Amino acid sequence: MRLRRCLIVPVVAATLAFPAAHAAEIQQTRDGVTLTYQDQSGSTVAAVRDRIIATFFATYPRERRDYHPAAPSSVRIVMDPSYDGVAYVGEKEKSATITINPRWLEKHPNDTDLVTHEAMHIVQGYPGYASEQAPSWLVEGIADYARDHYGVDNAAGGWALPSQVKPEHKVDTGYRVTGAFLKWSEAGHPGLVKALDAALRKGTYTPALWKAHTGEDLAALWEAYVAHQGNGARGA
Ligand SMILES: [Zn+2]
Repeated sequence: MRLRRCLIVPVVAATLAFPAAHAAEIQQTRDGVTLTYQDQSGSTVAAVRDRIIATFFATYPRERRDYHPAAPSSVRIVMDPSYDGVAYVGEKEKSATITINPRWLEKHPNDTDLVTHEAMHIVQGYPGYASEQAPSWLVEGIADYARDHYGVDNAAGGWALPSQVKPEHKVDTGYRVTGAFLKWSEAGHPGLVKALDAALRKGTYTPALWKAHTGEDLAALWEAYVAHQGNGARGA
């Protein structure tokens, strides 16, 4: 970890409320990005909290620099025991807030690169979600593509992009399945993911973009990917 320009400022009121080890709010600034970490109920053990914060600073500034330097420079991570999903980034006033279910981390303490995925959603900042201009499978596929690329320790979390295409996998399965497809497509057509990301952010994404950048329409590119991964599985 780089500790240059690292600033830890526990909020005074929080310090009074948690006079022992728990500061309910921690603020750090590094690489031009300020993170405010909130855990009002002190739900997360210090070691996991520290890894969450370290993972954020190891990934978000790079994702932001590479994809969208104008993305928010001030981000919140909120541990919310009342949230029963895994983690999410919301819209509007929640578009720079990563909400995490601390019970998930209790059960999966090594899944700290979930922050890498969520941080990419903040970088994305697309004007919609689950719409024609921002299909959710592609938005989530890019977030998992970024988790694979920038993640600190995906292996410890038991997380990896699939190396084989299963019969139930489709191009619009999203998440890791689409992430692996994006990785393969990017290798053959460098700049593709950034072009998709930029169009999604501008609201100008259409499926025609795949053909413009790869020479193949989406369905044909997916078929080529399936054929290639199939060959790999046979050891060719
Ligand atoms: Zn996501």
